[in-house]
Amino acid sequence: MASYDVIVIGSGPGGYVCAIRCAQLGLKTACVEGRETLGGTCLNVGCIPSKALLHATHMLHEAEHNFSKMGLKGKSPSVDWKQMLAYKQETIETNTKGIEFLFKKNKIDWLKGWGSIPQAGRVKVGDEVHEAKNIVIATGSESSALPGVEVDEKIVVTSTGALELASVPKKMVVIGAGVIGLELGSVYARLGAEVTVVEYLDAITPGMDAEVQKTFQRTLKKQGLSFVMGAAVQGVEVKGKKASVRYKSRKDDSEATLDADAVLVATGRRPFTDGLGLEDLGVALTARGQVKTDAHWATSVRDIYAIGDAIEGPMLAHKAEDEGMAVAEVLAGKAGHVNYGVIPGVIYTHPEVATVGLTEEQLKAEGRAYKAGKFSFMGNGRAKANFAADGFVKILADKTTDRILGAHIIGPMAGDLIHEICVAMEFGAAAQDLAMTCHAHPTYSEAVREAALACGDGAIHS
Ligand code: FAD
Repeated sequence: MASYDVIVIGSGPGGYVCAIRCAQLGLKTACVEGRETLGGTCLNVGCIPSKALLHATHMLHEAEHNFSKMGLKGKSPSVDWKQMLAYKQETIETNTKGIEFLFKKNKIDWLKGWGSIPQAGRVKVGDEVHEAKNIVIATGSESSALPGVEVDEKIVVTSTGALELASVPKKMVVIGAGVIGLELGSVYARLGAEVTVVEYLDAITPGMDAEVQKTFQRTLKKQGLSFVMGAAVQGVEVKGKKASVRYKSRKDDSEATLDADAVLVATGRRPFTDGLGLEDLGVALTARGQVKTDAHWATSVRDIYAIGDAIEGPMLAHKAEDEGMAVAEVLAGKAGHVNYGVIPGVIYTHPEVATVGLTEEQLKAEGRAYKAGKFSFMGNGRAKANFAADGFVKILADKTTDRILGAHIIGPMAGDLIHEICVAMEFGAAAQDLAMTCHAHPTYSEAVREAALACGDGAIHS
């Protein structure tokens, strides 16, 4: 029986980061992974492959729409879907192999197979039982099922199937206007598919700043995506290679159908803890099936911890990573901490959408006095030069103290721009601190400074 200080179950961004930090802190560490490759949902069927397809199709969009405007003339590219999938696969492989390398470098044992916890302090993988002073559950999540919809991963697919469709569909229906549905819907719309998004609620990307939601939906419509809002999908029927999606309007109960060559079910994800034996162990779960943890990621059973998509909070790779690092520090006797108030959320469409902290709607609900500084990318020289002037930066700050409470960006490189504001928020900065910081010209980040200036005496270029 091999014996470890820590065994992490699951090698997604939560699990592998936790294992690396544990090893760096001098703990003898193993990580159990049932997949053929390390990296979890994120590297294998999530963040990384979806971003590869978004990048490739964004390049196509640029070539089709903007090259000739810049005097770049010639044959426009045609799509070799097989090659695009091969590029995506290669991207996955270089990333997953990178984690394998990091495991070797940090002397972390990869226990290959599906793990279970027969009792506290023991992890079973295949026929072998290993001893662990501490166990970290980092088993992630899987796509949620939708009643009346049977997924075959060919015509009716989850995000996993959508990352490797046999061909580009002529018509695609996306059920759910959340991040994953809109990112993958954008990919296929750019490839020429007629994409219709069916959403139960009246706004896309639930929980986001309402002004961003409206601008984002308008921009996606301009890009050719259609939306059916306030519609509850009743079922999907597949006949041969075609599917029809039946939905009911929440307004007047009227029913309608949409035909499609592919249907993407993107109605959310649920925590995955199957086969671990949590019930027998007495590990408490929430009503939504997440592993219940305290402020130090400890479960209800001593020396068993949990992180990432398997517990409460936003299902994001960087949230899982932060928890992975923090729990490793706790296990090494240090003070692990995650600031849940400063976790950015990004949608990697074009333009990108990025958000951190509170929305105007939340501030209003809290009755908090705030000011909003907004700056349109139309006033940003770099954005105009790059045909990327759609969108804005909005910074929300406390009316009295000027402390930054949230920021919402739709525009070029929003996913990178947001981090300047995250750092400012970590340091409890005021909007004026950003406004007084010199920003290089010409950069998109000048729009962030201008939004900060707009919280005070006013932006210069608006
Ligand atoms: P996971 O990444 O799900 O990893 C869990 C791992 O545990 C899996 O490899 C699984 O095989 C393994 N496992 C489970 N049970 C066992 C067991 N019993 N024994 C052994 N191994 C086990 N997030 C972002 O922040 N940015 C994005 O751009 C983004 N894009 C996404 C796009 C898509 C299409 C999807 C589906 C998700 C995306 N996400 C994104 C979400 C992100 O992938 C997850 O939040 C993140 O992967 C969660 O990390 P995790 O470590 O908790 O779990």
